[in-house]
Amino acid sequence: METDLVDAPPTPLAAAPAPVRPRQSLPPKGSCWYCEKALDSVKRFCNKECADGFDDEAAFTG
Ligand SMILES: [Zn+2]
Repeated sequence: METDLVDAPPTPLAAAPAPVRPRQSLPPKGSCWYCEKALDSVKRFCNKECADGFDDEAAFTG
């Protein structure tokens, strides 16, 4: 006869969704969205610092 002593529910750790960063919904506009420096037409930010800075400001302004 099988014993079934393990009856713990699965932990819902994997259920937390990854937060969507505001910058990920922006279209490239030919310049940095944060510092307005001219960029390639496919880029939105000149570097990670600008991308993070934009996200920080977006978090405050909604
Ligand atoms: Zn920039």
